[in-house]
Amino acid sequence: MDEARLSEYPFLTKAAEYVAGMDSTIDEILVSRGYGMARSRAKSRVIQAIKGEIRNENMGLDTPELLSYPIARILVSCIDDAFLVRRYALAEAKFANSRMGKEDDNILTEIGRDFNINASIAEKGFRIHFTDYIRGAAGMRALKWKLVNRTLESGYVNITKEQYARLLQEAIRVRIIKALPLDVPDMFCQSMAGDIKEIRTCLEEIKKEFDEEGFGEVEPGDFPPCIVHLLSSAQGGVNLAHSARFALTSFLLNIGLSVDQVVQMFNVSPDFNEEMTNYQVDHIAGSTGTSYKPPSCTTMITYGNCYNKDEICRTIGHPLSYYRKKKKIQQEKLAEIAKHEGKIRESSVPKSTIHGNSSVKRRDTKNKG
Ligand code: SF4
Repeated sequence: MDEARLSEYPFLTKAAEYVAGMDSTIDEILVSRGYGMARSRAKSRVIQAIKGEIRNENMGLDTPELLSYPIARILVSCIDDAFLVRRYALAEAKFANSRMGKEDDNILTEIGRDFNINASIAEKGFRIHFTDYIRGAAGMRALKWKLVNRTLESGYVNITKEQYARLLQEAIRVRIIKALPLDVPDMFCQSMAGDIKEIRTCLEEIKKEFDEEGFGEVEPGDFPPCIVHLLSSAQGGVNLAHSARFALTSFLLNIGLSVDQVVQMFNVSPDFNEEMTNYQVDHIAGSTGTSYKPPSCTTMITYGNCYNKDEICRTIGHPLSYYRKKKKIQQEKLAEIAKHEGKIRESSVPKSTIHGNSSVKRRDTKNKG
Protein backbone atom coordinates (compact mmCIF):
# COMPACT_ATOMS: atom_id res chain seq x y z
CA MET A 1 0.00 0.00 0.00
CA ASP A 2 1.27 3.50 -0.74
CA GLU A 3 1.06 6.52 1.58
CA ALA A 4 -2.33 7.55 0.20
CA ARG A 5 -3.82 4.14 1.00
CA LEU A 6 -2.17 3.98 4.40
CA SER A 7 -3.66 7.38 5.25
CA GLU A 8 -7.08 5.81 4.62
CA TYR A 9 -6.32 2.83 6.86
CA PRO A 10 -3.94 4.35 9.44
CA PHE A 11 -4.60 1.63 12.06
CA LEU A 12 -2.75 -0.97 9.94
CA THR A 13 0.63 -2.28 11.05
CA LYS A 14 2.19 -1.01 7.81
CA ALA A 15 0.90 2.51 8.50
CA ALA A 16 2.49 2.49 11.96
CA GLU A 17 5.76 1.25 10.44
CA TYR A 18 5.61 3.96 7.78
CA VAL A 19 5.13 6.69 10.41
CA ALA A 20 7.90 5.21 12.58
CA GLY A 21 10.25 5.37 9.58
CA MET A 22 9.63 9.07 8.90
CA ASP A 23 12.42 11.56 9.52
CA SER A 24 10.54 13.65 12.11
CA THR A 25 10.19 12.50 15.70
CA ILE A 26 6.81 12.59 17.48
CA ASP A 27 8.05 15.53 19.63
CA GLU A 28 8.59 17.54 16.45
CA ILE A 29 5.27 16.50 14.98
CA LEU A 30 3.47 17.74 18.10
CA VAL A 31 5.03 21.20 18.09
CA SER A 32 6.47 22.05 14.68
CA ARG A 33 4.54 24.54 12.53
CA GLY A 34 5.04 22.29 9.55
CA TYR A 35 2.71 19.72 11.13
CA GLY A 36 -0.05 22.17 12.08
CA MET A 37 -2.38 20.70 9.49
CA ALA A 38 -1.93 17.17 10.86
CA ARG A 39 -2.60 18.38 14.43
CA SER A 40 -5.66 20.30 13.36
CA ARG A 41 -7.04 17.25 11.53
CA ALA A 42 -6.27 15.11 14.60
CA LYS A 43 -8.35 17.42 16.75
CA SER A 44 -11.24 17.42 14.27
CA ARG A 45 -10.98 13.63 14.05
CA VAL A 46 -11.55 13.32 17.80
CA ILE A 47 -14.25 16.00 17.98
CA GLN A 48 -16.11 14.46 15.05
CA ALA A 49 -15.83 11.05 16.72
CA ILE A 50 -17.39 12.47 19.88
CA LYS A 51 -20.22 13.88 17.79
CA GLY A 52 -20.74 10.47 16.20
CA GLU A 53 -19.07 10.43 12.77
CA ILE A 54 -15.59 11.12 11.41
CA ARG A 55 -15.91 12.87 8.07
CA ASN A 56 -13.60 12.83 5.09
CA GLU A 57 -12.02 16.28 5.02
CA ASN A 58 -10.34 15.68 1.70
CA MET A 59 -7.22 17.69 2.43
CA GLY A 60 -5.60 16.44 -0.75
CA LEU A 61 -2.43 15.72 1.24
CA ASP A 62 -1.70 12.24 2.48
CA THR A 63 0.93 12.94 5.15
CA PRO A 64 -1.22 15.19 7.40
CA GLU A 65 -4.13 12.74 7.11
CA LEU A 66 -1.89 9.80 7.98
CA LEU A 67 -0.21 11.59 10.89
CA SER A 68 -3.51 12.86 12.24
CA TYR A 69 -4.33 9.32 13.39
CA PRO A 70 -1.41 8.80 15.82
CA ILE A 71 -1.84 12.40 17.04
CA ALA A 72 -5.56 11.77 17.62
CA ARG A 73 -4.67 8.71 19.69
CA ILE A 74 -2.34 10.83 21.79
CA LEU A 75 -5.12 13.39 22.32
CA VAL A 76 -7.55 10.66 23.38
CA SER A 77 -4.92 9.18 25.72
CA CYS A 78 -4.21 12.54 27.36
CA ILE A 79 -7.92 12.87 28.18
CA ASP A 80 -8.09 9.23 29.32
CA ASP A 81 -11.87 8.85 29.50
CA ALA A 82 -13.42 5.41 28.92
CA PHE A 83 -16.50 6.90 27.23
CA LEU A 84 -14.28 8.86 24.82
CA VAL A 85 -12.11 5.82 24.06
CA ARG A 86 -15.15 3.72 23.13
CA ARG A 87 -16.72 6.46 21.07
CA TYR A 88 -13.49 7.28 19.27
CA ALA A 89 -12.74 3.62 18.46
CA LEU A 90 -16.23 3.08 17.09
CA ALA A 91 -16.13 6.21 14.94
CA GLU A 92 -12.69 5.32 13.50
CA ALA A 93 -13.91 1.81 12.68
CA LYS A 94 -17.06 3.14 11.03
CA PHE A 95 -15.03 5.68 9.09
CA ALA A 96 -12.87 2.86 7.74
CA ASN A 97 -15.96 0.85 6.88
CA SER A 98 -17.37 3.72 4.83
CA ARG A 99 -14.26 3.35 2.64
CA MET A 100 -14.06 -0.43 2.67
CA GLY A 101 -17.53 -0.78 1.21
CA LYS A 102 -16.24 0.75 -2.06
CA GLU A 103 -12.81 -0.82 -1.86
CA ASP A 104 -11.05 -3.19 -4.20
CA ASP A 105 -11.47 -6.81 -3.00
CA ASN A 106 -7.68 -7.37 -2.90
CA ILE A 107 -7.22 -4.43 -0.54
CA LEU A 108 -9.88 -5.88 1.74
CA THR A 109 -8.11 -9.23 1.93
CA GLU A 110 -4.86 -7.37 2.69
CA ILE A 111 -6.57 -5.49 5.52
CA GLY A 112 -7.96 -8.82 6.77
CA ARG A 113 -4.47 -10.36 6.86
CA ASP A 114 -3.33 -7.53 9.14
CA PHE A 115 -5.92 -8.80 11.63
CA ASN A 116 -5.05 -12.46 11.03
CA ILE A 117 -8.32 -12.95 9.20
CA ASN A 118 -7.75 -15.26 6.28
CA ALA A 119 -10.34 -14.60 3.64
CA SER A 120 -10.33 -15.33 -0.06
CA ILE A 121 -12.32 -13.64 -2.77
CA ALA A 122 -15.31 -15.77 -3.74
CA GLU A 123 -17.83 -15.58 -6.54
CA LYS A 124 -20.24 -13.48 -4.49
CA GLY A 125 -18.17 -11.82 -1.81
CA PHE A 126 -15.67 -13.57 0.44
CA ARG A 127 -14.93 -17.00 1.82
CA ILE A 128 -13.68 -17.07 5.40
CA HIS A 129 -12.67 -19.88 7.74
CA PHE A 130 -15.29 -20.43 10.42
CA THR A 131 -12.81 -19.85 13.28
CA ASP A 132 -11.99 -16.40 11.88
CA TYR A 133 -15.69 -15.80 11.36
CA ILE A 134 -16.53 -16.63 14.99
CA ARG A 135 -13.71 -14.42 16.24
CA GLY A 136 -14.87 -11.51 14.07
CA ALA A 137 -18.56 -11.88 14.82
CA ALA A 138 -18.10 -12.37 18.59
CA GLY A 139 -19.00 -8.75 19.32
CA MET A 140 -22.07 -8.76 17.10
CA ARG A 141 -25.40 -9.45 18.78
CA ALA A 142 -27.77 -9.58 15.82
CA LEU A 143 -29.01 -13.10 15.20
CA LYS A 144 -27.89 -13.12 11.56
CA TRP A 145 -24.27 -13.16 12.78
CA LYS A 146 -24.66 -16.40 14.74
CA LEU A 147 -22.74 -19.20 13.07
CA VAL A 148 -25.83 -21.45 13.15
CA ASN A 149 -27.47 -19.00 10.76
CA ARG A 150 -24.68 -19.40 8.18
CA THR A 151 -24.02 -22.12 5.65
CA LEU A 152 -20.81 -23.93 6.43
CA GLU A 153 -18.90 -25.59 3.54
CA SER A 154 -15.82 -27.61 4.47
CA GLY A 155 -15.16 -25.30 7.42
CA TYR A 156 -15.67 -22.08 5.45
CA VAL A 157 -18.43 -19.49 5.52
CA ASN A 158 -19.44 -17.43 2.49
CA ILE A 159 -20.27 -13.82 3.23
CA THR A 160 -21.00 -10.74 1.14
CA LYS A 161 -18.48 -7.95 0.69
CA GLU A 162 -20.59 -5.74 2.94
CA GLN A 163 -20.57 -8.38 5.69
CA TYR A 164 -16.82 -8.89 5.34
CA ALA A 165 -16.27 -5.12 5.66
CA ARG A 166 -18.49 -5.20 8.74
CA LEU A 167 -16.34 -7.96 10.29
CA LEU A 168 -13.26 -5.88 9.57
CA GLN A 169 -14.93 -2.86 11.14
CA GLU A 170 -15.37 -4.81 14.36
CA ALA A 171 -11.76 -6.01 14.27
CA ILE A 172 -10.58 -2.40 13.80
CA ARG A 173 -12.75 -1.17 16.68
CA VAL A 174 -11.40 -3.84 19.00
CA ARG A 175 -7.78 -3.12 17.99
CA ILE A 176 -8.17 0.60 18.64
CA ILE A 177 -10.02 0.18 21.93
CA LYS A 178 -7.50 -2.37 23.26
CA ALA A 179 -4.54 -0.07 22.60
CA LEU A 180 -6.01 3.01 24.32
CA PRO A 181 -5.13 4.89 26.40
CA LEU A 182 -1.47 4.99 25.40
CA ASP A 183 1.16 5.69 28.00
CA VAL A 184 1.77 9.29 26.95
CA PRO A 185 4.45 11.52 28.53
CA ASP A 186 3.01 14.60 30.27
CA MET A 187 4.97 16.94 28.01
CA PHE A 188 3.02 15.65 24.98
CA CYS A 189 -0.27 16.51 26.67
CA GLN A 190 1.04 19.90 27.77
CA SER A 191 2.11 20.77 24.23
CA MET A 192 -1.47 20.18 23.04
CA ALA A 193 -3.25 21.66 26.06
CA GLY A 194 -5.38 24.02 23.91
CA ASP A 195 -6.71 21.23 21.69
CA ILE A 196 -7.30 19.01 24.71
CA LYS A 197 -9.34 21.72 26.39
CA GLU A 198 -11.50 22.10 23.29
CA ILE A 199 -12.05 18.34 23.06
CA ARG A 200 -12.92 18.11 26.76
CA THR A 201 -15.54 20.83 26.37
CA CYS A 202 -17.12 18.99 23.45
CA LEU A 203 -17.01 15.72 25.41
CA GLU A 204 -18.73 17.26 28.43
CA GLU A 205 -21.43 18.75 26.22
CA ILE A 206 -22.20 15.39 24.64
CA LYS A 207 -22.24 13.63 28.00
CA LYS A 208 -24.61 16.29 29.31
CA GLU A 209 -26.86 15.84 26.29
CA PHE A 210 -27.05 12.13 27.02
CA ASP A 211 -27.99 12.90 30.60
CA GLU A 212 -30.65 15.42 29.72
CA GLU A 213 -32.00 14.55 26.32
CA GLY A 214 -35.53 13.30 26.27
CA PHE A 215 -35.73 12.16 29.86
CA GLY A 216 -38.62 14.46 30.71
CA GLU A 217 -39.77 13.70 34.24
CA VAL A 218 -37.40 10.79 34.45
CA GLU A 219 -34.53 11.36 36.87
CA PRO A 220 -31.31 9.77 35.55
CA GLY A 221 -29.56 10.74 38.78
CA ASP A 222 -31.78 8.24 40.61
CA PHE A 223 -30.97 5.27 38.36
CA PRO A 224 -29.52 2.22 40.10
CA PRO A 225 -25.77 1.72 39.54
CA CYS A 226 -26.32 -1.30 37.27
CA ILE A 227 -28.48 0.76 34.90
CA VAL A 228 -26.03 3.69 34.97
CA HIS A 229 -23.29 1.25 33.96
CA LEU A 230 -25.32 -0.39 31.18
CA LEU A 231 -26.53 2.96 29.87
CA SER A 232 -23.08 4.52 29.69
CA SER A 233 -21.75 1.35 28.05
CA ALA A 234 -24.50 1.42 25.40
CA GLN A 235 -23.95 5.11 24.74
CA GLY A 236 -20.23 4.60 24.60
CA GLY A 237 -20.65 2.11 21.78
CA VAL A 238 -20.32 -1.15 23.71
CA ASN A 239 -22.29 -4.03 22.25
CA LEU A 240 -24.36 -5.22 25.19
CA ALA A 241 -25.20 -8.87 25.68
CA HIS A 242 -28.83 -9.78 25.12
CA SER A 243 -29.64 -10.02 28.85
CA ALA A 244 -28.07 -6.58 29.49
CA ARG A 245 -29.96 -5.00 26.58
CA PHE A 246 -33.19 -6.48 27.87
CA ALA A 247 -32.55 -5.22 31.41
CA LEU A 248 -31.71 -1.71 30.23
CA THR A 249 -34.57 -1.48 27.72
CA SER A 250 -37.24 -2.82 30.03
CA PHE A 251 -36.05 -0.58 32.88
CA LEU A 252 -36.16 2.57 30.75
CA LEU A 253 -39.56 1.72 29.30
CA ASN A 254 -40.97 0.99 32.74
CA ILE A 255 -39.94 4.34 34.14
CA GLY A 256 -41.61 6.19 31.31
CA LEU A 257 -39.30 6.57 28.32
CA SER A 258 -40.88 6.15 24.89
CA VAL A 259 -39.88 3.44 22.41
CA ASP A 260 -38.23 6.12 20.20
CA GLN A 261 -36.19 7.49 23.09
CA VAL A 262 -34.93 4.03 23.99
CA VAL A 263 -34.13 3.18 20.35
CA GLN A 264 -32.04 6.34 20.08
CA MET A 265 -29.98 5.24 23.09
CA PHE A 266 -28.71 2.28 21.12
CA ASN A 267 -27.97 4.44 18.10
CA VAL A 268 -24.23 4.40 18.83
CA SER A 269 -23.81 0.69 19.44
CA PRO A 270 -21.53 -0.99 16.84
CA ASP A 271 -24.20 -3.14 15.20
CA PHE A 272 -27.05 -0.66 15.50
CA ASN A 273 -29.85 -1.55 13.14
CA GLU A 274 -32.72 0.86 13.57
CA GLU A 275 -35.38 -1.43 12.19
CA MET A 276 -34.32 -4.39 14.31
CA THR A 277 -33.83 -2.28 17.45
CA ASN A 278 -37.24 -0.71 16.94
CA TYR A 279 -38.82 -4.12 16.65
CA GLN A 280 -37.12 -5.45 19.78
CA VAL A 281 -37.86 -2.38 21.92
CA ASP A 282 -41.44 -2.32 20.66
CA HIS A 283 -41.78 -5.96 21.60
CA ILE A 284 -40.51 -5.35 25.16
CA ALA A 285 -42.85 -2.35 25.39
CA GLY A 286 -45.79 -4.68 24.77
CA SER A 287 -46.63 -4.46 21.06
CA THR A 288 -47.59 -8.15 21.11
CA GLY A 289 -49.76 -7.82 24.19
CA THR A 290 -47.21 -8.68 26.88
CA SER A 291 -45.14 -5.88 28.35
CA TYR A 292 -42.05 -6.90 30.26
CA LYS A 293 -40.73 -5.87 33.65
CA PRO A 294 -36.98 -5.57 34.15
CA PRO A 295 -35.28 -8.54 35.85
CA SER A 296 -34.92 -8.65 39.63
CA CYS A 297 -31.55 -8.07 41.29
CA THR A 298 -31.11 -11.84 41.74
CA THR A 299 -31.48 -12.37 37.98
CA MET A 300 -29.24 -9.39 37.26
CA ILE A 301 -26.56 -10.94 39.47
CA THR A 302 -26.95 -14.34 37.80
CA TYR A 303 -26.37 -12.83 34.34
CA GLY A 304 -23.47 -10.65 35.47
CA ASN A 305 -25.42 -7.42 35.03
CA CYS A 306 -25.22 -6.16 38.61
CA TYR A 307 -22.52 -3.49 38.83
CA ASN A 308 -21.27 -1.15 41.53
CA LYS A 309 -23.78 -2.04 44.27
CA ASP A 310 -24.23 0.72 46.79
CA GLU A 311 -25.93 1.22 50.17
CA ILE A 312 -29.45 1.45 48.73
CA CYS A 313 -28.91 -1.86 46.90
CA ARG A 314 -28.71 -3.61 50.27
CA THR A 315 -32.27 -2.60 51.07
CA ILE A 316 -34.05 -3.52 47.81
CA GLY A 317 -34.52 -6.53 45.58
CA HIS A 318 -35.34 -4.92 42.25
CA PRO A 319 -33.79 -2.13 40.14
CA LEU A 320 -37.21 -0.45 39.91
CA SER A 321 -37.48 -0.45 43.72
CA TYR A 322 -34.06 1.15 43.84
CA TYR A 323 -35.24 3.91 41.50
CA ARG A 324 -38.43 4.52 43.50
CA LYS A 325 -36.57 4.54 46.78
CA LYS A 326 -33.83 6.89 45.62
CA LYS A 327 -36.39 9.23 44.07
CA LYS A 328 -38.25 9.31 47.38
CA ILE A 329 -35.05 9.98 49.32
CA GLN A 330 -34.17 12.82 46.94
CA GLN A 331 -37.64 14.30 47.18
CA GLU A 332 -37.51 14.17 50.97
CA LYS A 333 -34.12 15.86 50.90
CA LEU A 334 -35.46 18.60 48.61
CA ALA A 335 -38.51 19.08 50.80
CA GLU A 336 -36.24 19.36 53.84
CA ILE A 337 -34.06 21.96 52.10
CA ALA A 338 -37.15 23.93 50.98
CA LYS A 339 -38.53 23.82 54.54
CA HIS A 340 -35.21 24.97 55.94
CA GLU A 341 -34.93 27.81 53.40
CA GLY A 342 -38.54 28.80 54.12
CA LYS A 343 -37.71 29.08 57.82
CA ILE A 344 -34.69 31.26 57.06
CA ARG A 345 -36.77 33.54 54.83
CA GLU A 346 -39.51 33.73 57.43
CA SER A 347 -37.10 34.76 60.17
CA SER A 348 -35.42 37.41 57.98
CA VAL A 349 -38.58 39.16 56.64
CA PRO A 350 -40.53 41.73 58.72
CA LYS A 351 -43.75 40.29 60.15
CA SER A 352 -45.91 42.97 58.53
CA THR A 353 -44.80 41.88 55.04
CA ILE A 354 -45.35 38.18 55.76
CA HIS A 355 -48.88 38.84 56.89
CA GLY A 356 -49.70 40.85 53.80
CA ASN A 357 -49.67 44.34 55.28
CA SER A 358 -50.26 46.10 51.96
CA SER A 359 -49.82 49.56 53.37
CA VAL A 360 -46.23 48.74 54.28
CA LYS A 361 -45.54 47.43 50.79
CA ARG A 362 -47.11 50.47 49.09
CA ARG A 363 -45.15 52.86 51.22
CA ASP A 364 -41.90 51.06 50.34
CA THR A 365 -42.64 51.29 46.63
CA LYS A 366 -43.49 54.95 46.87
CA ASN A 367 -40.33 55.73 48.75
CA LYS A 368 -38.21 53.96 46.16
CA GLY A 369 -39.88 55.71 43.24
S1 SF4 B 1 -28.30 -4.76 43.56
FE1 SF4 B 1 -29.91 -4.58 42.07
S2 SF4 B 1 -30.23 -2.40 41.80
FE2 SF4 B 1 -28.27 -2.64 42.81
S3 SF4 B 1 -26.79 -2.66 41.14
FE3 SF4 B 1 -27.30 -4.78 41.56
S4 SF4 B 1 -28.98 -5.25 40.18
FE4 SF4 B 1 -28.78 -3.04 40.25
